[in-house]
Amino acid sequence: MFVCPTCSARYPAEEPHWRCTCGSYLNWERPVRFDRDSIVRNDYSIWRYRHVLALAPGKEPVSLGEGWTPIVSVDWHGREILFKLDYLCPSGSFKDRGTAVLVSKLKAWGIEEVVEDSSGNAGASLAMYTARSGINCTIYAPASASRGKLVQIALAGARLVLVPGSREDTVQAVLKAAESTFYASHNLSPLFLEGIKTLALELAEQLGWEAPESIIIPVGNGSLALGLAAGFKLLQDAGLVSRLPRLIAVQSAACAPLAAAFNAGRDEPSPITKGLTMAEGIASKAPPRGREVLAAVRTSGGAFVTVTEEEITAAIVELAEKGLYVEPTSATAAAAFTKLTAEGYIRPGGQVVAVLTGSGLKATDKLAELFAAKLPL
Ligand SMILES: [Zn+2]
Repeated sequence: MFVCPTCSARYPAEEPHWRCTCGSYLNWERPVRFDRDSIVRNDYSIWRYRHVLALAPGKEPVSLGEGWTPIVSVDWHGREILFKLDYLCPSGSFKDRGTAVLVSKLKAWGIEEVVEDSSGNAGASLAMYTARSGINCTIYAPASASRGKLVQIALAGARLVLVPGSREDTVQAVLKAAESTFYASHNLSPLFLEGIKTLALELAEQLGWEAPESIIIPVGNGSLALGLAAGFKLLQDAGLVSRLPRLIAVQSAACAPLAAAFNAGRDEPSPITKGLTMAEGIASKAPPRGREVLAAVRTSGGAFVTVTEEEITAAIVELAEKGLYVEPTSATAAAAFTKLTAEGYIRPGGQVVAVLTGSGLKATDKLAELFAAKLPL
């Protein structure tokens, strides 16, 4: 069932919707209870938790084997941190968790054509999963997006429309296209969030059915924050974890509408003037679910932190030198760990997980430019 958080309208799950007639995004409501005995033991993908995912029994998921990514322990300035390597999902980004559930539902609905807008990763992910399912796909992307992501979208067979200007200009272009086609928006669809919640289930299972003390995540539109909050709530309701992890949400200092609001005690994203940042995956000036993201981080007892371009640059190199090749957006999580341990916010002893969201291979063109003076090329 889709439910509108603004006007309370309800729509049946069998009907395709991407927003309410009042213009608001929709939320997904389905009473589910997480049950360890219902885990599909021999399925090492998000579909091992199928009993809590939004797909009717008998419907085949559209899957490329997303999920069940490794956790590695790393010594970071004398402190242990656990990195969750979600950039090892099939398209090179954690977004495959959400895309797999969204596209499975599109397929079940009989949708044949979709449009989507993306700074790259969500578009690349959707291009791959629609290719897998035989759905026609058009992706609107900022002309400035990383070439690695744009090549990935085009080679998967999606139509690529490059929009000059800002990320917000891309949104306007796709909304025009959405007047006549289904808008498979990863920012608006609650089904995308359904898939992201598997990250919480998987982390808890891999850590021996316990929640870490803190989870550090890059936050733009906030799907990771909302998915993790929803997943750990399911686990807590099932009596499987004794506490909720603190969500530590990281934004680029150049684009931090949520951090500004959180630190000022406000409930809505703050209006900001957006600067340039290499963390393109979280450069969202006006996150549609901002209010919910702020509430989720507050409920968890967590915090928002901002990191500068210099801090991100240093974290990219440090991660790579430890064998973790990630894109700048992902490196914000490691930069935040450095900052928060130095400030004493993260104290010794507590288990900390940082989610590495996107592969460095997608951003090689930008990394080559950034480190031109350092590279023997
Ligand atoms: Zn409504």
